[in-house]
Amino acid sequence: MGARVSNAPTPTGAEQLALTELVQPARVDRVTDLVGATPLVRLHQIERDHQLDQLDGGPAVELWAKCEFANPAGSVKDRPALRIIQDALARGDLAGKRLIDSTSGNTGIAYSMVGAALGVPITLVMPENVSAPRKQVTSAYGTELIYSDPMEGSDGAIVLARELVDRHPDRYYYPNQYANPSNPLAHYEGTAPEIWQQTRGRVTHFVTGIGTSGTIVGTSRRLHELGRDAGREVTCVAMQPDDGMHGLEGLKHLPSSLVPEIYDPTVLDDTIWMPTEEGWDMAERVAEVEGLFVGHSSGANVAAAVRVARELRAARQPGVVVTILCDRGDRYFVPLEWEREYVW
Ligand code: PMP
Repeated sequence: MGARVSNAPTPTGAEQLALTELVQPARVDRVTDLVGATPLVRLHQIERDHQLDQLDGGPAVELWAKCEFANPAGSVKDRPALRIIQDALARGDLAGKRLIDSTSGNTGIAYSMVGAALGVPITLVMPENVSAPRKQVTSAYGTELIYSDPMEGSDGAIVLARELVDRHPDRYYYPNQYANPSNPLAHYEGTAPEIWQQTRGRVTHFVTGIGTSGTIVGTSRRLHELGRDAGREVTCVAMQPDDGMHGLEGLKHLPSSLVPEIYDPTVLDDTIWMPTEEGWDMAERVAEVEGLFVGHSSGANVAAAVRVARELRAARQPGVVVTILCDRGDRYFVPLEWEREYVW
């Protein structure tokens, strides 16, 4: 130990810790305060796979992914679920009522988490044959589950939920995420400005899939505005499965389905048609070389972002391409009971 020159007291351990530069973990009042502010991660190895790095002296094209799986209930739907419930509470639409919806997917899980944290009772209608983990995760939050006829699939769940709302309008509030402006607003006010800040305003392209279209519409609308304010273009590209019989859960193929009321094609610059297989393959690759085990809609998003980036690279243009990792891959494990209990 060298001699101390100053006669200031030695800092205590606690004082030293307070002076250390650590990434500050969040400290919040409740779990809903942890929705949003998700990390942006660079996909270096996927960039190398496709020669997007500047090996031949041309400009590099960067590939970045917004980790929406890091939201507290594990998906990109936490943001709209929170915003929809907050706005409904503020209008008094939920007074004395339960929120009801017909989803066993990410939206249902997100409503369940937000409902539990904010004291809003949730009812979900789902076909009886959805996987056991989907039932377990939603009911773990205290959500009431009502089962619809398994033979009628997800349409049967939608019809039953609507019937219940019609029969008991004083008991249920139906938020209709496909028409609810709070859904894109969550991304307009959250996802987009976060991407702008995290890329230091360098984002040139935004690419993501369409389910309700809340993510692409809300984020693109704001990124266009932020770009315009900065005197440049941000190009926003929608990804859609290339056929109606796709295996990319959570995504819509608009030519073969009802167009959501919140869908606004004027904020989109282009569409990329993605084969299901390519989405699955990219999800595998992203897990293996980036250490990000994500669902197949995220894989399809990365594959679409790679296509955009490769075009820029071929044209020798620089780019900062951002896409969304919607949820984790373990949300799609197929449980054994599936085969045992439901043999058609
Ligand atoms: N990926 C997954 C896995 C989803 O569950 C959803 C939501 N249905 C989406 C993408 C699309 O998001 P959005 O509803 O905002 O279009």
